[in-house]
Amino acid sequence: MENLKSIWKPELYRIQMEAPLPNHIICENCPNRPEFYGKEYHGIMGHKEATLLLEDEPNGSFLIRKGNEYNDFYTLSWKFDDRIHHYKLYYDGTHYIKDKRYDTIYDLVADGLITCHMELKAHHILEMINSRANYTESPYVTLNRKKLKTLSQIHQESNRASPIFLKSDTKQEIHSDRKPPFNLTPTLEDPPPLYKYSKSHSFKVHTFKGLNWCELCANFLWGFTAQGVKCEDCGFIAHSKCSERVPNHCVPDLKKLRGVFGIDLTTLLNAHSSTLPFVVRKCVNEIESRGLDSEGIYRVSGFADEIEALKLAFDRDGEATDLSVYSNINVVAGTLKLYLRLLPVPLITYEVHPKLINAIQMKTTVVQVAMLRECLDSLPPAHFNCLQYMVQHLHRVAQHAEVNKMSPHNLSTVFAPTLVATPPAITDLSFEIRALQALIEYCPQIYYNNK
Ligand SMILES: [Zn+2]
Ligand SMILES: [Zn+2]
Repeated sequence: MENLKSIWKPELYRIQMEAPLPNHIICENCPNRPEFYGKEYHGIMGHKEATLLLEDEPNGSFLIRKGNEYNDFYTLSWKFDDRIHHYKLYYDGTHYIKDKRYDTIYDLVADGLITCHMELKAHHILEMINSRANYTESPYVTLNRKKLKTLSQIHQESNRASPIFLKSDTKQEIHSDRKPPFNLTPTLEDPPPLYKYSKSHSFKVHTFKGLNWCELCANFLWGFTAQGVKCEDCGFIAHSKCSERVPNHCVPDLKKLRGVFGIDLTTLLNAHSSTLPFVVRKCVNEIESRGLDSEGIYRVSGFADEIEALKLAFDRDGEATDLSVYSNINVVAGTLKLYLRLLPVPLITYEVHPKLINAIQMKTTVVQVAMLRECLDSLPPAHFNCLQYMVQHLHRVAQHAEVNKMSPHNLSTVFAPTLVATPPAITDLSFEIRALQALIEYCPQIYYNNK
């Protein structure tokens, strides 16, 4: 289960974060401004004059102009990679470039800047995506292995229409002389029988809200609009190009195949109109009601099969999931850790990671605490809330350390790889552990004075 940490690939997401932001160069009172442009419209202006205006501005600066009075089109000029570029613009009620459509010219520029930035900085990854993506090891299959397997088995059995195989002693039938037409007894070690039946996905170009990752290649869906495609029947999400390589294995009756595990936190909370994921809230409540005195809570791992069962139950039953049936509290703790580990962007994000490491190296605790608070303030709201909830919980767990043996240091050793987004190159997590330990120890000072 440890290898699940790396199912998502954050590089494209990190590179997108570094793309220049649109910065419009304003022309206050431009005559004959078309209604679909704003103050970035500069009227009739040649490319030399546009270049002069943009030259000393930061990357991402742009303006709209008309090259000469006879043109029936408009031109976008922007600065990107320290050079000025000019593009012909298209408008027919909405702004568009090929099959991508934008409500405002600002959206078009923002998306265009990201696309150019990705082509410049992520060229090597974009090329690799198509050659390397492997369906059987894709996040889709990894996250839903058990579910897909169960479905395939149900499907096979119902297709057989032979009542004899529906009896409880199916296995005996298989070992009898009458050979079934195909192997009906996948063992736990077998990969799920994914190719036994086929229905192609109904992929449609989709504009995603929030952050989404391709379920084939595990990379980020970059851009602001039409970032990829989504299957209308099962919800499979992919890059346009990747979708051409997804096998015909659509399971249309499972609208919610994606469940709640492995989905970006902000995206999930927006979809559920919630401020905290129910998986986190329910697991924490359960652990606080009967796990605080359990020795080695969060360190001792639960059985993988039971954790997988609880994960399935959360995906299927949502809020209504009954945790009391899992008598081993380590299963609940393990499922919570799994949920947090499967977040594409961990609670402490890639942008905040360097600030966190900087903060923990300050000389005095007072400065450390002040700087840690600043770090937390720069988290996205969904991450801020969920992390606060988790840290306050871990603080309470640590208050029982005499019995459960889980000191702030022990807890942070367990949770650092899960909660802190650490670039793959970093293998020594000692700073991350110290930072998390400080959050847990000084939780009251850090959070209760915060707002
Ligand atoms: Zn599908
Ligand atoms: Zn992809």
